[in-house]
Amino acid sequence: MVDYDVVVIGAGLGGVTSGAILAKNGFKTLILEQAEVVGGCCSTFDYQGYKFDTGASIVMITQPLEEAFRRMGKEVRDYVELVPCEPIYSVHAYDGTKFTIPTDIDDATEVISRIAPEDVEGWKRYTRIGLDMVGQLEQMMTTPMNTLSETARLELSHPGMMKYFPYFLRSHQGVTVQFLKNPVIQSTVAFQSYYAGAPPELGLGTLGFIALCEHLGIYYPRGGMIAIPEGLRRAGEEFGLEVRFNQKVEKILLEGNMARGVLLEDGTEILSRIVVANVNAKVTYLKMIGPDNLPRWAVKAIDSYEVAMPCPMIYLGLDTSPPLDAHHTIKTGDLEQSNRVWNDYYKKGIRPPMGGWLISWPTESDPSLAPEGHHVVNFVWGGPAPYGLLGDNWDRLKPAFTEEALKVFESEVMPDLHDHLKVVEVSTPLDFERRLLTPQGAIYGLFLDFFSSAMFRPHPRSRVVKNLYLAGASVGLGGGVPTTIASGVITSDYVLKDLG
Ligand SMILES: Cc1cc2nc3c(=O)[nH]c(=O)nc-3n(C[C@H](O)[C@H](O)[C@H](O)COP(=O)(O)OP(=O)(O)OC[C@H]3O[C@@H](n4cnc5c(N)ncnc54)[C@H](O)[C@@H]3O)c2cc1C
Repeated sequence: MVDYDVVVIGAGLGGVTSGAILAKNGFKTLILEQAEVVGGCCSTFDYQGYKFDTGASIVMITQPLEEAFRRMGKEVRDYVELVPCEPIYSVHAYDGTKFTIPTDIDDATEVISRIAPEDVEGWKRYTRIGLDMVGQLEQMMTTPMNTLSETARLELSHPGMMKYFPYFLRSHQGVTVQFLKNPVIQSTVAFQSYYAGAPPELGLGTLGFIALCEHLGIYYPRGGMIAIPEGLRRAGEEFGLEVRFNQKVEKILLEGNMARGVLLEDGTEILSRIVVANVNAKVTYLKMIGPDNLPRWAVKAIDSYEVAMPCPMIYLGLDTSPPLDAHHTIKTGDLEQSNRVWNDYYKKGIRPPMGGWLISWPTESDPSLAPEGHHVVNFVWGGPAPYGLLGDNWDRLKPAFTEEALKVFESEVMPDLHDHLKVVEVSTPLDFERRLLTPQGAIYGLFLDFFSSAMFRPHPRSRVVKNLYLAGASVGLGGGVPTTIASGVITSDYVLKDLG
């Protein structure tokens, strides 16, 4: 006798997406979430009357979200209001150049021609190739590529993609410098390699075109980023999906090599036909199942993945409008600096000086997130900051780190910050780890490079534990709002195929 058909561990995007779709397909489904709200890294919290997004700050590539709702016979617009952000971002380049990038590619080309006339032809080639490739990839996101045969099948059904194969073997930086020569434009494109959690010289070549995804449109959900997982949850609940909060799963229960439910922190056992884990794959295998219950090769394999980088966030509540001109503003470092942050600081456990940064301004798109006339701003450390600090730790460093970040914000963005600052909250890598139980505060599950993406990542249908499935940033295409929703769709497809 089981209590549920499906138990999902974690109500992050991968968890709510797969849970909602499985509920729609008649499975009695329960999601267990250790926090008080849905969304994990894509959530929103209230602090002294201001609503701050925990991590993710926009959504680009909406196809997986549309697909998730379509699988439930529903429309996104009935559950989530996506507000388009225009311009897509504003740049404060390392050399003092400032410009904004509009969504429309011809208008963006006009901007590039003013800053770097020598790059116009390269930019046009970059956008021609990149937009075609990104457009095709968008359509492929909810199709599995977790084995060689799935990948081959996918390539054959999209023959137009074959010509782009060489880009899969290059680095983000390799693609950037192939098309663009001006260091300011290079730095703008290269900055976004950290959106996937790697420096330009290690980032996947295909992600060299990630900057172009934003030209398909970027959106902010009214009500904060939590509106996306909330919308999915509401849709799922109409089919009987159950979500329980403050429920920490300790262990996945096994019978031989078969998952048969979960054990909660308070000792409660919940039995199910299958378990979907929406937590870091290292936690799933090494803690919730345990090395003793796995073959040696599997322990070695899962051990070999590096967790993704953490990234501290500073949340500011202001009693006036900040002097910004886009939902996102980025401060770039040049290519060399972007790589140095990784090699000379992050990998050595040294906190890098604050060079690049990203500011998200949610009240630009949704004023209801703050009291009338007030604003919220999320200030993101531009790049990785090590979890393990050489000779220090984040709890001790937090006050000095906060002060430094505020100084940078004041000197580079808002000189009268202290006259208008009402609220400051900070999430260090340690805070992320405590709040979301994500190991080392990793914001994208596992590190992503060619050899840890798609078919090289842990499989969404466990190869070693029967009836165990994985969803979220540790599988498929890695971290990100669209990719983790896509992973939830794909995981539900595997379950339906196996049990349907
Ligand atoms: C600072 C930051 C900025 C980001 N910016 C962007 C952006 O602008 N755009 C973008 O596309 N992506 C962005 N991302 C990435 C994106 O938010 C994540 O990749 C994505 O939301 C992860 O989804 P997931 O399905 O892997 O679940 P997660 O978000 O990892 O959620 C997992 C859930 O499981 C719960 N959980 C953990 N352990 C247990 C347990 N033992 N028992 C029960 N529940 C448990 C957690 O509380 C959490 O709710 C950002 C992330 C961060 C942190």
